[in-house]
Formats: sequence, structure tokens, C-alpha cells
Amino acid sequence: MNQALEDLKNLTNIPDFEERITEEEYRYTTDRLEVTQINVGRLCNLACKHCHVEAGPARIEVMDRKVMEACLKVCKEQKVETIDITGGAPEMNPNFEWLVDEACKICSHVIVRTNLVILKEEKYRHLPKFYADHKVEIVCSLPYYRAKEMNRVRGEGTFETAIEMIRELNELGYGKENDLVLNMVYNPAGAFFPPVQSAMEKEYKSRLWQDYEIVFHNLFTITNNPTGRFEAFLKRSGNLESYMKKLSDAFNAATLPGLMCRFQISVGYDGQVYDCDFNQAADLPVLTGETIFNMVGKSFKKRKICLANHCYGCTAGQGSSCGGATE
Ligand code: SF4
Ligand code: SF4
Repeated sequence: MNQALEDLKNLTNIPDFEERITEEEYRYTTDRLEVTQINVGRLCNLACKHCHVEAGPARIEVMDRKVMEACLKVCKEQKVETIDITGGAPEMNPNFEWLVDEACKICSHVIVRTNLVILKEEKYRHLPKFYADHKVEIVCSLPYYRAKEMNRVRGEGTFETAIEMIRELNELGYGKENDLVLNMVYNPAGAFFPPVQSAMEKEYKSRLWQDYEIVFHNLFTITNNPTGRFEAFLKRSGNLESYMKKLSDAFNAATLPGLMCRFQISVGYDGQVYDCDFNQAADLPVLTGETIFNMVGKSFKKRKICLANHCYGCTAGQGSSCGGATE
């Protein structure tokens, strides 16, 4: 176990996460792979304060075509329902468009997670249209509906650019038409929990319409997971223990059946397989040690999930996953 996870384990007032799971089946995946999340690299045009994968412009880890091909083979063989492409800024991977193109040929639900700001850069200006042509679902992160809060987390001017890009996506039909899905992600800017998802969605929709006349389908609220840059922030600010205590006190067993790790895998840039993106950030590969290359041509088997104390981030209150609340 790495030092960051050791630190979470050694917090004396927090019981081990695994002890909280009383029903054995929730320590295991289901027997079907429904979602493959492909993390195409840690390279990003931004370097947000809360980034759990510690992405940024100086990162050099980028997935190559061979790993992508193996991912696609597994997705096809397992007939996955969703291919979820993320990063970093996935658009910056040189094989990104090829991957989207191929993914759309074998799967009817392809998601791309974008920070929006990247779409304003000259090299990527054609991508909104490319997304619409492929009818990929866009999940965009908009940390808040006001400039001040978002710019503090993402950098000066990021909010204004993101709004401009959402307007462009709306003009293409995103957020309006059923087959051009535009979803948003909210995560808190500090050591506190997100509000109830349905209430926050209502607030986002009304503020963004009033102030900018922009629309979107759904808002996903995500609890900040105590890994990566966010864990470092918690330590620096002296909030690690109290944040973990809050998460542990808010443990909700009803969120366990919907944990995203139960029906998905997350593939790293080098082909290593993880139970989820948070485990990838925490450098905790699947307990079987498999890479995506090992999974090609094999039937999918139920496996034990690699759980540790950062998992409290997924089970607090209404629960949290890459698709928002889980309860
Ligand atoms: S949070 Fe997203 S946009 Fe920000 S640095 Fe991380 S990957 Fe990039
Ligand atoms: S952090 Fe990952 S492995 Fe842990 S509960 Fe959440 S989704 Fe599952």
C-alpha cells in the first residue's frame, strides 16, 4: 500500500472501510462487465486544485494505440454497454479521434469527459462538431455556476471559456436533443460534501439559464475523493482527519449495491486495469493483477474489489461515482 493510503488507514478515529461492509457480495464485482472507462493519459491543459489524477500540462503518460486496441477488443467481446473515455484532457491524446471513431462502431453509448476549456484551443476547434457527428455523450465538468468559484479552482478565465463552449454545444443541439446528451459534473471546491444532487441540478439549471441562456441534461454531483492532489490539499490544510471522519460518519450502506466498481473497469494509460478511476489515482490495481492485454479473449469473471479507506468517498450520504449519486 502506498504512503497516501497508509496515512488514511492510520487515522485512529476511522474504522477500516472493509469492516463496514457486512454483506459479502458487495466486496465483489457482479459477473458482467457493463462499463469500460478508458483513461487515455494524464496530460491536461489545466492543473486543477482538486484533481484526483494529478493531471496537468507537464504529465507525459499517454495511452498508445496498442493499449486502445486491446481495450476495444475487450469491450467488443464483453458487449459492454458503455465506453467512457477520460483523462487528463482526453482530447490531447494523439489517437483520441481514432479511439472515439472505433468505440462508436462497437458500442452505442460512448461518453467523453471534457473540461470544455480545451475545445477553445485552435488545434481542437473542430471537436464539438466531431462529437455531434458521432453522437457521443459529453460529460463536462463545471465546478460551479459562477466565475469566481470556478476560476479559483481551475484558473483565471476558465469559467468564461467553458460557458462559451457550452453555448457552442447548445447551438449544435447538445443539451437539447435526446441523442446529443450533455451532462455536467459538480464537485465541491473544498473539504465539504456536495448538496443533494436533484436540488443542485435545479439550482444549476436555473442559474445557467438565467445568466447565460445555456441548457444541459443532467447534473452529477461527485464527492471529492481523498486521493491525489485533493488528499495533498487536505493534509496541507490540516483537514484530512476531519474530512475522513465526516465521510466515515456519513457511511450509507444503501449505496453499496450501486458502487461503480461493481460493474466496471478503469484502464490506465499503460494498460493496467483498476476497479475504478479513484483506485487508478491511488495506484491500486485490480487484485488479480490483470492488464487489459490479459483480458482479451477471456470470459469475464467476478473478482474481489480492491477496497481501502479512500472508498469512504463513494459511500457517504447519497453516494458518489463518475455518474453522480448512487442511491
Ligand atoms: S480535474 Fe480534469 S481538467 Fe482539471 S487537471 Fe484534472 S483532468 Fe484536467
Ligand atoms: S473508490 Fe473505487 S473501489 Fe473504492 S468504493 Fe469507490 S468505486 Fe469502489
